[in-house]
Amino acid sequence: MNLSSLSFEIKRGVAHVGFGKDPKTSMPILDRRTLEELEKVVDRVEEDRQKLKGLLLFSHNSRAFLAGADISLIGSMKSESDAAHGAERGQALFNRIEDLPFPTAVCIHGICLGGGCELALSCQKIYLSDDPATRIGLPEVQLGLIPGFGGTYRMPKRVGLLSALDLILTGKKIDAKKAKRISLADETYPKEKLVEMALATMGKRPKKKTFGQISSRWAKGNFFSKKIIFSKARENVLKKTKGHYQAPLKILDVMEDGQGKGRSSYLASEAMAFGELCLGNQGQNLLHIFSLMDGAKKYKGPKPKGPVPSLSQGGVLGAGTMGGGLAWLFAQNGQSPLLKDVSTKALELGLAQSGSNFYGALKRKKISRSRYQKLQRSITPTLSYEGFKSVDLLIEAVPEDMGIKKRILAEAEGFVGEKTIITSNTSSLSITEMAKALKRPEHFAGLHFFNPVHRMPLVEIVTHEALAHETLEALYHWVLAVKKTPIIVKDGPGFLVNRILLPYMSEPIHMMEAGIPPEAIEKACLNFGMPMGPFRLLDEVGLDVGAKVSHILHKALGPRMAVSSLMDEVVASGALGRKSAKGFYHYDERGKQGEWNREVDAFFPSKKSSSSPDETTLQMMIFLPMINEAAYILEEGIVSGAREVDLGLIFGIGFPPFRGGLLRYADYEGLERITKAMEGFSTEIDPYRYTPCPYLKKLVDEKRSFYS
Ligand code: NAD
Repeated sequence: MNLSSLSFEIKRGVAHVGFGKDPKTSMPILDRRTLEELEKVVDRVEEDRQKLKGLLLFSHNSRAFLAGADISLIGSMKSESDAAHGAERGQALFNRIEDLPFPTAVCIHGICLGGGCELALSCQKIYLSDDPATRIGLPEVQLGLIPGFGGTYRMPKRVGLLSALDLILTGKKIDAKKAKRISLADETYPKEKLVEMALATMGKRPKKKTFGQISSRWAKGNFFSKKIIFSKARENVLKKTKGHYQAPLKILDVMEDGQGKGRSSYLASEAMAFGELCLGNQGQNLLHIFSLMDGAKKYKGPKPKGPVPSLSQGGVLGAGTMGGGLAWLFAQNGQSPLLKDVSTKALELGLAQSGSNFYGALKRKKISRSRYQKLQRSITPTLSYEGFKSVDLLIEAVPEDMGIKKRILAEAEGFVGEKTIITSNTSSLSITEMAKALKRPEHFAGLHFFNPVHRMPLVEIVTHEALAHETLEALYHWVLAVKKTPIIVKDGPGFLVNRILLPYMSEPIHMMEAGIPPEAIEKACLNFGMPMGPFRLLDEVGLDVGAKVSHILHKALGPRMAVSSLMDEVVASGALGRKSAKGFYHYDERGKQGEWNREVDAFFPSKKSSSSPDETTLQMMIFLPMINEAAYILEEGIVSGAREVDLGLIFGIGFPPFRGGLLRYADYEGLERITKAMEGFSTEIDPYRYTPCPYLKKLVDEKRSFYS
């Protein structure tokens, strides 16, 4: 058989099918070619059914069995029926594997997701390697989809309804131990022994019934228990997603309606739902985000001429809020950092900060006690620069003051190695200005992390004229290596994310000043899908910090960034947010949010707006200035395109993923409509804050969008 992505061999009567045959493939996936070749293989084994004793699936690739279906194939579907038909074809193929009259088994080492997992479910036996790199799951829901190759049909049969719902509705990827516990895996073995053990046991019956079998049998025919399970699952989904996401609800509909149906009619409704979700706006948005994330995995900045250094030994200056988090990040990735501060007390606080993250992992049973202790010991606190010569990457996280930063950066440069890359975690100061303090500015860049470091996935790599391309690429690879998402941003006030975020925090204060009730503003933003309302966010950031950054951006960017003077008055009253137990809200001693702080109302006019705008108008008043600022950013070339803006806002501030990103949302709404609305607001509300950016108007004139 002429196959290029699969290997096929019959050994001692067992057909061996190996994915990822092409050594150039970094991760095998179920793309068109692989599916077609698998169809040929199934034709052949069906023909030979009388002679064969079994079918064994495995992978030649050391990282994955199958990393899922080809996303570009899914994204290229032109109509719902096209997509449904694609799903039906996959289902039919997996049905044929399920129906083979001899033992079938799959050996999985590494990643096995989506279509790969659905293929595994069609085999009688699933063997997983006990390697920590092995992960199995059905993550389709995270892409706004339903597993479309029979996953929702076969998973409950294998692991029981409860575990299946948990896996399918969250899209979580589980390790071999958990997979064995819930009976998704029949057995786990060291990766070297997988195939050998599978061949020895694939035809044997399991000794005892698995939990999955017992629970699915229990649930079978138990109408009331199923009703309760589905209603509880729906309740949880609505609570978690606030009703913003269609896919989990659709999955529940298909799974509940399909109870008691035969295979073919069940699978027909799964395929139809797949088609609907795939072509729906939300599915397209979530697929777009997947492509943004995938794109960010490759360095696309300027090509270096010299070798790109690899960065493995870390150093942090300043053991405060950010420094403690950064030390954790280095340690977590095996890059034992030196953590320097000016006092023992500050070092203790920094160590406590990183230690609390390790402890969290220990408590959640993510790491063992010995690993916990090892991780903690891998951070070396210090008051001197001893040992900094061997640091590859130094991150400065001292107070936000240009004078202090320049002095400390110049001082540190005298102690680190010639090739050490020095970075600053500043959130608002000029990287270009800091570079002037250094003898080797080519080895210096901004590396802007968000707080808290262990949670926030985005890192802005801030460039300047003198930066060497080797340094930039090395930083890009390092950020990826520590499992964060990098974005290359040119130096400029507020870089990318904070600059666009500013209107989200300042516009609501102007609106409140104009008499619009804050609860209506907060609700409009939450209903839009933001993870936090603007007043709550200001409390979290700290009103003093928010005011300081606002003034910096106002000075740098002009009147469209004007901040209400009432913001300063609230700050002067001592209401700084969560850290001072009160801001716009009250907070208890554990930092839990309480009631609205009525004291701040005194700073704002008591008269309420005669006619408070409707929710859509409120949303436009806040999000249009953000879109406008993003247009300025593109016009100034701060980032290379709309994709970076959208990635930055989704990962930097939690812009609702189901909207596909700020600029994709803008394109969906229509730039002409947005510009007209802004012009209206600029007459009615404020001529500066709402005047459309020339670039935005140009796009409208040329009948273009941000993405075209
Ligand atoms: P912080 O005040 O919590 O910590 C600063 C630390 O630097 C203190 O422990 C201080 O003792 C130490 N320090 C002062 N002089 C030093 C010196 N000469 N050598 C070594 N250490 C010294 O500040 P932070 O909130 O962690 O912020 C640090 C940087 O990160 C700032 O530039 C800030 O803008 C930026 N940042 C902060 C956040 C945030 O939310 N906190 C988010 C992103 C970026």
